[in-house]
Amino acid sequence: MPALSPSALRPVSVSPRPVALSATLAVNEALARRSRAGLPVLPMGFGEAGIPIHPALTEALSAGADRGGYGPVAGSDELREAVAGYWTRRGLPTDADRIVAGPGSKPLLFALLLALGGAVAVPAPSWVSYAAQAALLDDDAVMLATPPGEGGVPSPALLADACVRARAAGRPLRAVVVTLPDNPTGTLASAGTIQRLCEVARDHDLVIISDEIYRDLVHDPEESVPSPSRWAPERTVLSTALSKNLAAGGWRVGVVRVPDGPFGARLRDSLTGIASEIWSSAPAPVQHAAAYAFGEPAELVERIDASRRLHSAVVRAVAGRFTAAGARVPRPQGGFYLYPDLEPLRDRLDGEHGVTTGAGLTGLLLERYGVGVLPGSAFGDDPGALRMRVAPSLLYGADDEHRLAALEASDPVALPWIAGALDRLSEVLADLTRDALEPLPEVC
Ligand code: PMP
Repeated sequence: MPALSPSALRPVSVSPRPVALSATLAVNEALARRSRAGLPVLPMGFGEAGIPIHPALTEALSAGADRGGYGPVAGSDELREAVAGYWTRRGLPTDADRIVAGPGSKPLLFALLLALGGAVAVPAPSWVSYAAQAALLDDDAVMLATPPGEGGVPSPALLADACVRARAAGRPLRAVVVTLPDNPTGTLASAGTIQRLCEVARDHDLVIISDEIYRDLVHDPEESVPSPSRWAPERTVLSTALSKNLAAGGWRVGVVRVPDGPFGARLRDSLTGIASEIWSSAPAPVQHAAAYAFGEPAELVERIDASRRLHSAVVRAVAGRFTAAGARVPRPQGGFYLYPDLEPLRDRLDGEHGVTTGAGLTGLLLERYGVGVLPGSAFGDDPGALRMRVAPSLLYGADDEHRLAALEASDPVALPWIAGALDRLSEVLADLTRDALEPLPEVC
């Protein structure tokens, strides 16, 4: 075929919808540049569990590798039965026909918002994608502050007000999202708050979307997650995945549980209709491995227990370093995040560095010290607040050998690579908050 002459090409005037890349990716790129330049980095921006895939999961995936068919849109019977058992064992009796699987909980949450349509209330701060997904659907995400120390849940009183205002404005709220335990704050709302939220949801006819992807990573095994499906079962949709508890985010599989009754059945049909037009089904070999995982065999339960202990130990140690430097840190209760607030250091940060916003603070941490964290504003928090999400799980090790050693260690924060990272963090925080600034040596 002869080559096309440039004059035959007409410029395309279509302008694609502008959608920003997630803030996390931008931090990763800046850290990679510093690493290539031989400068020290502390990567704490990315929300990955930082532990290896369990070999039994790899085997289950290989065993399913010959499954080339699409299979049912809602997921294989084997997977849906296993997920029903998973929730039933958590005190939430579930039939397999109430489960819909998909390629990760993120697209399932998007499908849920699409199925429900209309404005949705989300906590401020909250995981970046809820509001971003609502925006993609041209729906409003109404960001509502959380009660102090109880991230992941809009304050019930604010939610009630927002329902009244939204109805008066002709755009009634359809749903509210909660995250239990929470990303970005690492905290867990109390049963009392969730009960009040359920009452508001019932009074104003809201669907509750309860994202429980960190459920199995509550640090204290005695502490139970106050799922709204206990108090408002007729209107609560649950979601989870293997991305956090078993660190299988790249495998892309997630599940939702719709409520029992006619609304749940209609919602399931809507979700499977959307799924049939977008992704057809979750990858069949991954579904096979996920069925095995949701069956909770002893070796995976043990792995999740070990990872919970590791997350808890490291997050607590990092919180301790921030507190020692003068920050306020809400007590982390689950997952692998913490959310320090450097407000008590505002005068010094402003006076020494001209830092007056969360993004200014995290920009300084990144550019001057190679510390990658995300400002609260990336999660819908007040841009002027000096809060940030810190995700220390990438400090567990640079390879699987180190990560496994961290999982198995009785005192992981004493391992040299983790202790070294903690000390570097303390040095950076001391340098940042010291009155008379002497630059820290760049190489450690
Ligand atoms: N919900 C929350 C709160 C998350 O943090 C994440 C991942 N960062 C997800 C949902 C999506 O996870 P996945 O699509 O891998 O299931």
